Amino acid sequence: MDINYYRLPAPAEPAPRDATALSDILALDGPRQDAFTAFTFVPFCHKRCASCAYYKGPAPSPAQRGMLIQRYARCVAANFAWMGSHRRFKGATCCAFYFGGGTASLLAPGDVGFILEEASSQFSLDPTAEITLEGNPLDYHPTYLADIVATGVNRLSIGVQSFSDGTLAMAGTTHRAKDSHNAASAASRAGFRSFNIDLMYGLPGQELSQWQSDVATAVEYDPQSISTFKYKIHPGSLAEWQLIEGRARPQPAGADLFNWYRWTRDLLLSRGYQEGRKGAFHRPGFRQRYNRLTYAAGYELIGLGAGAYGFVNGRVWVGPESADAYMERAERGEFPVVDNVSPKATRPQVLMRSLVGAFMAPELDRGWFKDRFSVDPVDAFPEVFADLEFRHWVNVSPDRLQVTELGLFQQEQILAVLHNSVFGRTMESV
Ligand code: SF4
Repeated sequence: MDINYYRLPAPAEPAPRDATALSDILALDGPRQDAFTAFTFVPFCHKRCASCAYYKGPAPSPAQRGMLIQRYARCVAANFAWMGSHRRFKGATCCAFYFGGGTASLLAPGDVGFILEEASSQFSLDPTAEITLEGNPLDYHPTYLADIVATGVNRLSIGVQSFSDGTLAMAGTTHRAKDSHNAASAASRAGFRSFNIDLMYGLPGQELSQWQSDVATAVEYDPQSISTFKYKIHPGSLAEWQLIEGRARPQPAGADLFNWYRWTRDLLLSRGYQEGRKGAFHRPGFRQRYNRLTYAAGYELIGLGAGAYGFVNGRVWVGPESADAYMERAERGEFPVVDNVSPKATRPQVLMRSLVGAFMAPELDRGWFKDRFSVDPVDAFPEVFADLEFRHWVNVSPDRLQVTELGLFQQEQILAVLHNSVFGRTMESV
């Protein structure tokens, strides 16, 4: 069961291809937003990992890659400038900007700088804005990182995944353990406000001792955040085929993996980290802003690029999956380049979209939610929280909603209960 909380409500209808009609349904000439977040998706990778659910097209050859990515970056930058020329966003404050993918570190520093310059020619980029670039350790050489810092990017996310060659080979990544070490070391000296290390656990054949070694090694680099992800084998992927063929050992069982997670949480909390989302740990003051503002706080999101999601005027959109289609349409001046768009969210859907985002975390501050949305979450959905409490998944107290240990084990089920209560019974729940 998967809940893609990026796309609530689901972008199910073809978007109008006429710019005026699309501007109208997104109310781009409507009242100006005070604050919003921004995202761009870079749909290129060095090669496809063994169980990838994100990257859809073939990687360009190394000889073509630079020019193609520069062309793509110009299209994205022009699209940001176009969005920002409309009253809804002109002069509004961008609080967090995220370069993701795919592999965003395939962007040259000049491409990153160009996109940020074009965007900030229309928006106001808050001086405290969190600007994140995520990418592959292979790309994070000291000179590259120095040039990225100079563009204004202040948070670097490193897709380390593991410090073990065996684990990386199982995941089918291009980088190896020495690249993970080099990137973490270079990031810690490059001058970013913060850097994050991504780690994956529960790969086929992975042992608890290997995972413990990965976490302990990450801590030695003293990153401001460590994000851990449970490895998922997607249907139709190379990883699934390797299992079917008997070329990979089974994944550790779910109950074992919950104990791996608990071990990780205990260790990182004892080292001064806090848990902002289940499995995502940060030093005090360094909780990731982009996810929190975009999904839990429900800020409008200008998400541009092939396969990127946006959320404006209560509607979620998605860009065309193919980079070629995205660039062709952008070069024809067809802005914004958007394929599908959702119906306008109702008030309960807007609230539930944020609750689903908020319940990626182990607890929710009821006062914070009420300040943001003018309603207490339990008053808005009394039956849903009675159900979650009855199942022993959430403790309801006057000031907070706390996910129990059992609830942490069943967190996807909590999201299903929340989701299904408003968006329909499309997600499996017990
Ligand atoms: S780096 Fe990420 S997006 Fe690219 S192939 Fe690997 S898993 Fe997929």
